[in-house]
Amino acid sequence: MIFNGNQLANSILQTLRVTSKIKPKLGICLVGDSPASKSYVNRKLKACQEINVDAEVFNFSENIEQDQLIKHIQSMNHDGILVQLPLPLHLNKLDIIHSIPYEKDVDCLHMHNLQRILVYGELCEMLPCTPAAVLQILDYYDVNVIGKKVTVIGRSFLVGLPLSLLLQKRNATVTVCHRETLNLDQHIMNADIIISAAGHPKLVRNVKQGAIVIDVGISQGEKKGRIVGDVDFDVVKNQASLITPVPGGVGPMTVCMLMRNLCNIWKKKQGQPVYINPKLSDAYLND
Ligand code: ADP
Repeated sequence: MIFNGNQLANSILQTLRVTSKIKPKLGICLVGDSPASKSYVNRKLKACQEINVDAEVFNFSENIEQDQLIKHIQSMNHDGILVQLPLPLHLNKLDIIHSIPYEKDVDCLHMHNLQRILVYGELCEMLPCTPAAVLQILDYYDVNVIGKKVTVIGRSFLVGLPLSLLLQKRNATVTVCHRETLNLDQHIMNADIIISAAGHPKLVRNVKQGAIVIDVGISQGEKKGRIVGDVDFDVVKNQASLITPVPGGVGPMTVCMLMRNLCNIWKKKQGQPVYINPKLSDAYLND
């Protein structure tokens, strides 16, 4: 089975559509003019339009000073705030993220929000978008991870680290691989579920017959303007029982989860019940 991320993302976006007169507002800070970052921001703006919420983009020069950017962030009155990553190297990414009030941190990258995930897992109303996208795909196919061997490749703050925590909270047996991992192929072959978030083309070349393969990687392909994932798709699709393509797999779902975070921030502010994964069992915070 080949997952269609655009289709599922569109159907979830329909359920998020805001019909009230007053609506949430997303504020996006974009530093520099990298075409990739611009294209990500445009996708986020399009999703905002689709669910009928307001969005505003603030463009800053590549050379903006750290204090200037932080002052701007502190002056924003939007319901959700995000800074498009990556940032130029002279800026301290963590200090900038931490200048966003944590209850508005729609990307869920602030250390306070990561701590909450560590404790409450998916019971939080905001989840890091890419990990949430992966879990949503597993849920869509009713994949039960309890006791399964899950290999996560990558341990970044953005994806691998929070995802491995969330999968542990779902009672999977998680192996986290990274740049220094020896015998990566063995960890891949051994796994029932492989989630690759390394940004390294053709890192996953063979999997166990019937494995589930979720490709979070994004790299430039050999042809200019093409993006490719971490998985050798043409080979692995014949071995996997379920595989996500790049593009058109996890990517659109990630934007969709950003919209869900924004709606949850808004609902919480309004005192309305927030969306929490209905599939979590009562045993969810056992350990
Ligand atoms: P992202 O934030 O999208 O996950 P990063 O570049 O921040 O991307 O992180 C990439 C992660 O992938 C790192 O944790 C790194 O250790 C891991 N990684 C990169 N290359 C390899 C590789 N060849 N084998 C295994 N893990 C890798």
